[in-house]
Amino acid sequence: MKHVVMWSGGITSWATARHVIAEHGAASTVLLFADTNAEDEDLHRWNREAAAQLGMDLIRVADAQERDPWQVFEDKRWLGNTRIAQCSHALKQEPCRDWLTANTDPADTVLYVGIDWTETHRIPAVRSGWAPWQVEFPLTQPPYRDKDQWFIEAAAVGLRRPRLYDLGFAHNNCGGACVKGGQAQWARLLDVFPERYARAERAEEKMRALLGKDVSILRDRRGGTTKPLTLAALRQRIERRKVEQPDLFSLLDADPDDVIDTQDFGGCGCFTDAA
Ligand code: SF4
Repeated sequence: MKHVVMWSGGITSWATARHVIAEHGAASTVLLFADTNAEDEDLHRWNREAAAQLGMDLIRVADAQERDPWQVFEDKRWLGNTRIAQCSHALKQEPCRDWLTANTDPADTVLYVGIDWTETHRIPAVRSGWAPWQVEFPLTQPPYRDKDQWFIEAAAVGLRRPRLYDLGFAHNNCGGACVKGGQAQWARLLDVFPERYARAERAEEKMRALLGKDVSILRDRRGGTTKPLTLAALRQRIERRKVEQPDLFSLLDADPDDVIDTQDFGGCGCFTDAA
């Protein structure tokens, strides 16, 4: 049997790979990483060090044209958003499926995805999405752990966790600028990486002009109605609040629900969406 760990670059990838290697051995295990060309530079440092700690090499796959999510949106003429993100399909699922088709036989290959015991509702869609390959989810099985415990275990073997976690991001994906992340993620990005936010804001404006439509990555649900919320509008809203309260250190800590929806963290579905 061949065992393929779908390696996203998050802590759960490492925890999953560690389990699979302990269970089946390194010789029959492969770590498969799909590069979106939009990753935080520290993700690549983490990938190198975490794979080395496991005694493995990573196999990197990517879109044939080495596009990033913004280039995919332009080509598809569709702005990715919290509900539909073609970037995940084009940059992660398709390159991985191509590699699996060329290098494995579904009859003797098992895939492993790092969703944990809090996300078991995703399992049926993941299984049907990756068919005909069999998919397993070791982190949904006992002993149940959470990210904090895996961070401690990674530190215990000398691994410095990816910096996006230390900077307050829930996921180590696409440099903290995942289109599936909600308002809270984008407010964090504006705070921590304003240049990345500015690039995303420009790209969103470009897409709106290209499509001639009032489209946006985010949605505003205040007042009981749902309407588009552009990154420019969100930034201006945050900046106004900072002028009113110059001592405000973090919007998220201050929890100003009149400015952003702090519960709207969203989540990345790469690898866990249907392939
Ligand atoms: S992490 Fe988010 S932005 Fe990046 S490819 Fe996946 S869905 Fe798209």
